[in-house]
Amino acid sequence: MDNGMKETMKRVCVGLLAHVDAGKTTLSEALLYRGGCLRTLGRVDHQDAFLDTETLERERGITIFSKQAVLPLENVELQLLDTPGHADFSAEMERTLQILDCAVLVVSGTDGLQSHTRTLWRLLERYGIPAFIFVNKMDLPGADRAALLRELRERLSGGCVDFGEETKAVWENAALCGEEALTAYLETGALSDKTLAELVGARKLFPCFFGSALRLEGVDALLDGLKRYAPRPSYPSAFGARVYKIARDPQGVRLTFLKVTGGVLRVKALLTNRHPGVPEEDVWEEKADQLRIYSGAKFHPAEEAGAGTVCAVAGLSRTRPGEGLGGETSAPAPVLEPVLSYRVELPEGCDPGGALSRLRQLEEEDPMLRVVWNDRLREIHLQLMGEVQLEILRRLILDRFGLAVEFGAGGIVYRETITAPALGAGHFEPLRHYAEVRLLLEPGPGGSGLVFAAACPEEELSWDWQRLILSQLRASPPPGILTGSPLTDLKITLVGGRAHEKHTEGGDFRQAACRAVRQGLAGAENVLLEPWYDFHLELPAGCLGRAMTDLQRMGGETDPCQPAGEEAVLTGCGPAAGLRNYAAEVAAYTHGQGRLSCSLRGYEPCADQAAAAAAVGYDWRRDTDYPADSVFCAHGTGFTVPWDQVWGYLHTASAPRVEAGEPERTVSGPRAAYTGTAEQDAELMAIFERTYGPVKRREFRPRETARPEAPAPAADAPPAGPEYLLVDGYNIIFAWDELKRVAADNLDAARKQLLDLLCNYQGFRKCVVIVVFDAYRVPGNPGEATRYHNLHVVYTKESQTADAYIEKATYEIGRGHRVRVATSDGAEQLIIWGHGALRVSASAFHEEVTQVGGQIAAILDRNNRPESRQPVRAAMDRALLENAQRREDPEPPEGKTVKKR
Ligand code: GDP
Ligand code: MG
Repeated sequence: MDNGMKETMKRVCVGLLAHVDAGKTTLSEALLYRGGCLRTLGRVDHQDAFLDTETLERERGITIFSKQAVLPLENVELQLLDTPGHADFSAEMERTLQILDCAVLVVSGTDGLQSHTRTLWRLLERYGIPAFIFVNKMDLPGADRAALLRELRERLSGGCVDFGEETKAVWENAALCGEEALTAYLETGALSDKTLAELVGARKLFPCFFGSALRLEGVDALLDGLKRYAPRPSYPSAFGARVYKIARDPQGVRLTFLKVTGGVLRVKALLTNRHPGVPEEDVWEEKADQLRIYSGAKFHPAEEAGAGTVCAVAGLSRTRPGEGLGGETSAPAPVLEPVLSYRVELPEGCDPGGALSRLRQLEEEDPMLRVVWNDRLREIHLQLMGEVQLEILRRLILDRFGLAVEFGAGGIVYRETITAPALGAGHFEPLRHYAEVRLLLEPGPGGSGLVFAAACPEEELSWDWQRLILSQLRASPPPGILTGSPLTDLKITLVGGRAHEKHTEGGDFRQAACRAVRQGLAGAENVLLEPWYDFHLELPAGCLGRAMTDLQRMGGETDPCQPAGEEAVLTGCGPAAGLRNYAAEVAAYTHGQGRLSCSLRGYEPCADQAAAAAAVGYDWRRDTDYPADSVFCAHGTGFTVPWDQVWGYLHTASAPRVEAGEPERTVSGPRAAYTGTAEQDAELMAIFERTYGPVKRREFRPRETARPEAPAPAADAPPAGPEYLLVDGYNIIFAWDELKRVAADNLDAARKQLLDLLCNYQGFRKCVVIVVFDAYRVPGNPGEATRYHNLHVVYTKESQTADAYIEKATYEIGRGHRVRVATSDGAEQLIIWGHGALRVSASAFHEEVTQVGGQIAAILDRNNRPESRQPVRAAMDRALLENAQRREDPEPPEGKTVKKR
């Protein structure tokens, strides 16, 4: 270590996390007291706790803002952070997580694992934070150590080990958490502290301590455990810092709380957010006027702060929580976000403009508090986590601004995403302006938020422009088109664009990119998402039936439960829309004996999307702030091109790549907008190749069948396991001349011949082949899935098209497997691509089959004996022939809606 002696003292940042009332603040006090930092012990109940500093917190006995305290022990300095425990303040807690080296999860010995405890555990997992567990309140009757340990091991992790047992037993249990540890233990009969610390650091071992914070029992053991096994982070020598909180001191000085994650921060140092990707207009440079090391409400000024230090910096006006400074990267978007929205009712005669700017000040301190101005209604709306936060806010607004506000009835904050990839294009070219942007929008996994990427050749658009477009989209992404709600779980990739040497300004790209997103959404299948809670409901066993009926009515799901005597505990999850007002109802029908606790689980598709969207009453076509149309220029005048015609006007769309033998598709009319075009298909192929490397069309080595214990694929790697091939049966039959001729007088024979060819092909390729035959026009047909030798054969049921079946199947299968789809149907192209499947055109597939089998002709020959036809099939065939012929028409047959909207 180049800092020599000064650095022998390691700093470890320890967060305390718990459900409200588990005893977190009491435990912090106990740790500080036993560690020699507090001469007297404060008590939450007497309103003199050291860390509950804000008036509001002392009054209510809960911790709202995360506090820090420094606890120097020999060889290690613990920086304790007390985080808010109530689910309504999770945003604050989640940001604190981003700077922790390890956590102590406090569980109440009498309440056991609450749903919020599990939410916390999931967050620790998400951020990869090593954890210790302190089971508190063991002094109270009803706390059962063995049962609690079992619960921890079953519901949190098998790595939970009781560190209160004798050393030999601890070693034995810990050795089971890692292979190397087991070997070491079997060889030496012991485990070193270093080995144990490594297991903790790798999140394989979670030391558990049982005790009572109030009676100072088990507190020394926890301190000793932290001293010996808490991971000691190491930091780079170049300066870096991560901002986790913005607050104001009682004098109104703006404070940026950060953790130094590299080098040293000195007072008066010049700080900046300059980073690749941050546009020049957003870059700031400001001096760190003062460094403060806080302990509770008190602080001492510091000259410098070394790596690992948590401190507050005065003098910075433009920092924001989650931001990375110097060598540190910015944090990913938080998972817990406000889900309820309330209208702010201002006192008589109060100017909404003035109130808005004050509320924006609060928003800056807590970006999880969202202040939304509705210009049409001239109303301010606040979005937040829950009702408790509402009451705190009312007080805060009164104390800070002397403003007595009320809140209207709360509503749900929806989010939107899409089910399948779509391309979006935007063009902005009023006189002397110019920008064009093409984007690929892809659905991401639930909870992944918005992700941005670039896959645009630099020759097409310089890297500086690309960076600008991405940072603008990241800073203010346009809303969804169903309800105007924020987009989420969406990956937006910049795939093309153009700037003008003279006329392009930064703002032009903002316009074009926004239009591209909205245009892409307008042609995509959009999904409305609503917030769901995990709930934990304690109630008298007699009320269980009522509760289960209520939850079912809300559309919730309940875990299996066994009432133990008089009391029952029901857990599960359900839409926030139903659960947020349910606590009062529970209190009523259980006569005050029931208790409901909820915590945010995430967003799920809305059960009745149409009704929810209608209730919001948003019309994207009228939203002039976020147009989907584009502006082009001809003869010196700008004109608007409606969103569904933009493709035809673009300056940069790649030329269509039409394969030999495939009819060229004309792109016009509404159909183009829904189904994707040859250009889009070609473009998707190009993007795919840029992203994943060239697509080798004829790679005919048989694939190894997957080993059952094959390792899980890395996030970005193509999935392992067998490849799936879905074949649109009639499409292929009518696209291949040999089969089409046979089909003209005997469809059954053509079908059998296709199947035989595919049997051959499957035998060689070793992929899973599913052949889908369209039977949706056949009245009363129930659909059927059968085997034909080594093939799966599906006849779709009445009113289900082969496209629809394939779309659904690619979606299901595509999540875990590589999927290819053989078809020539234009309507399917975008949809199938959408689920990450690779489309093979009929002609390309013909080549593949020819190469593999070699002898299409031979098989056809063998098959050309007249076959007896089943009567049902004959009727089906007539309908299908008619149908298949229609499908060759350029216009879709009426009544056949390719995509529901
Ligand atoms: P927090 O909300 O997690 O910060 O919990 P507090 O520290 O504010 O404690 C909540 C309540 O539990 C207070 O009334 C404490 O006095 C009480 N409490 C905390 N620890 C213990 C304990 O070990 N035993 C008992 N019996 N009560 C405790
Ligand atoms: Mg507390």
